[in-house]
Amino acid sequence: MGISVLVVGGGGREHALAWKIAQSPLVSKIYAAPGNPGIARHAECVALSADDVQGLRDFAVSKRIDLTVVGPEAPLAAGLVDRLTREGLPACGPDAAGARLEGSKVFMKTILEKYGIPTAAFRVFDDYDEAEQHVLAGRLPVVIKADGLAAGKGVVVAQTYEEAVTFLKEVMERRVFGAAGDRVVVEECLAGEEASYIAFTDGFKVVPLPSSQDHKRIGDHDQGPNTGGMGAYSPAPVVTPKIEERAAREIFEPLLAGLRAEGITYRGILYAGLMIENGAPKVLEFNVRFGDPEAQPLFLRLSSDLVPLLLQCAQGKITDARMEIDPRPAVCVVMASGGYPGQYSKGHPIEGIAEAEEQEGVVVFHAGTSLADGRLVNSGGRVLGVTAIGDTLKGAIDRAYRAVDRIHWEGAYYRSDIGRKALRNKGGA
Ligand code: AMP
Repeated sequence: MGISVLVVGGGGREHALAWKIAQSPLVSKIYAAPGNPGIARHAECVALSADDVQGLRDFAVSKRIDLTVVGPEAPLAAGLVDRLTREGLPACGPDAAGARLEGSKVFMKTILEKYGIPTAAFRVFDDYDEAEQHVLAGRLPVVIKADGLAAGKGVVVAQTYEEAVTFLKEVMERRVFGAAGDRVVVEECLAGEEASYIAFTDGFKVVPLPSSQDHKRIGDHDQGPNTGGMGAYSPAPVVTPKIEERAAREIFEPLLAGLRAEGITYRGILYAGLMIENGAPKVLEFNVRFGDPEAQPLFLRLSSDLVPLLLQCAQGKITDARMEIDPRPAVCVVMASGGYPGQYSKGHPIEGIAEAEEQEGVVVFHAGTSLADGRLVNSGGRVLGVTAIGDTLKGAIDRAYRAVDRIHWEGAYYRSDIGRKALRNKGGA
């Protein structure tokens, strides 16, 4: 008998997790809460929301789940891992104290400053007038961040004073993000290229996955508003072996040591959003979970079993850090509902997924899909993550877009330039 695994969440990242976990010879049963129709191919979906910490705890206890893997940040911040650990149930993810790295930008920046980890210079404000005065006296562009979780919308890189003041007012006076806007971080705008660096950790040891990069904006050429992520590729050529080494030495190791000094042994997935300029990485943000959609291309490239690493993080000791990575690049193109990230129309039948997956090296991960009268329809903003691996980055991109071409529903939207930036970095190779 193998072990039982509970995957918490129901998006593209969680489908990629369930798909990868299902390949493990160690696992005999997978549950997902709430899951989605794609995840249902690999797991038994349980009608529990990813935010229902009490319900998830009760379910895990009743089934004596051997390993819980938490996809999104909210249940981590709400203490799901603390609750499961108290019951003696292994769960991969930080406790609520560790999850503050993502849940509070003020906490994150304060830790970075205290332990000398490179990041943008910043000031914290809890008073609107003082924040406004500081912004108006400073340089442009300026970056303003709401302290708490704001579903990826709590940051502005303001090019004008007007834009900066409008955002400050929304956050601190109109309180569009509620208590997440009690405080703001005002920080220096960094130049360079962004990349994601994601690692497994037991609080001491750091086992990095390959680099990756996501595409946050809705439009081609990084135009328009931010989204949850419209695509990703791995590796990110900007992250050279030298940068990886610097990220480990200058960022991850001092951060984990600093957290331990604060009484936090951070276990699980640690994701650093980096800005790289002139060969030097600086921290933009930390996430306390896998990226979505970065997980999709990363898991396509991970040729060894994911479960032993998840289990070792959950158990708090990494003793066997072996990981095999397919050297070929992978790309994920997100297909979204028309109108996303604003209001979008849903309930349209989706065609062509099977045809897309007939192509070698292509996996279509579900995010916002559901079944209506037995038909697959779009039901969320981001709907599918069409993911492909290829001999070259260009080959992977072409494969992904050929697969995208086969998939249809009314209003479907996707970016047409996912991965282009990396092609440019490699001189078009
Ligand atoms: P965050 O949630 O803190 O990562 O911010 C969201 C996005 O805003 C990042 O992915 C960057 O594109 C941008 N950003 C955040 N902080 C800075 C900064 N200090 N300088 C330049 N861009 C930034």
